[in-house]
Amino acid sequence: MKDNDCIFCKIVDGEIPSTVVYENDHVLAFEDLNPMMPTHVLIIPKNHYKNIIDDIPADEMANLMAAIKDVARIKGIDESGFRVIINTNDDACQTVHHVHVHVLGGAKMNEGNPSLDA
Ligand code: AMP
Ligand code: ZN
Repeated sequence: MKDNDCIFCKIVDGEIPSTVVYENDHVLAFEDLNPMMPTHVLIIPKNHYKNIIDDIPADEMANLMAAIKDVARIKGIDESGFRVIINTNDDACQTVHHVHVHVLGGAKMNEGNPSLDA
């Protein structure tokens, strides 16, 4: 369940370094290399799936979602609030094709929808 050309699979294998925030048998959470907020963590399943519309088994999906609260607590943003983003395919500018959950927080964000280029 690995893709040899995938940078996030290489992070799971330790071939590429990362700053780990949280880990269990199923998921890995690490600091985003280019944070967009004071807190910016990525959560990934250890197995390779392209994106959230790939055929992810229900237990893998549950483990991915359950890790959000663990990361939020560890980073101390569970009470102040945070935003979860899962970029999917081209219109959302997904750049790494190993499904990942962005957990963003640590400062007040704009209300409403993400900006549209159009
Ligand atoms: P997305 O645009 O949703 O595909 O987001 C990919 C994210 O991965 C971006 O926020 C990048 O900053 C982040 N990223 C890419 N390479 C690494 C890396 N080696 N370690 C940590 N984060 C990374
Ligand atoms: Zn991968």
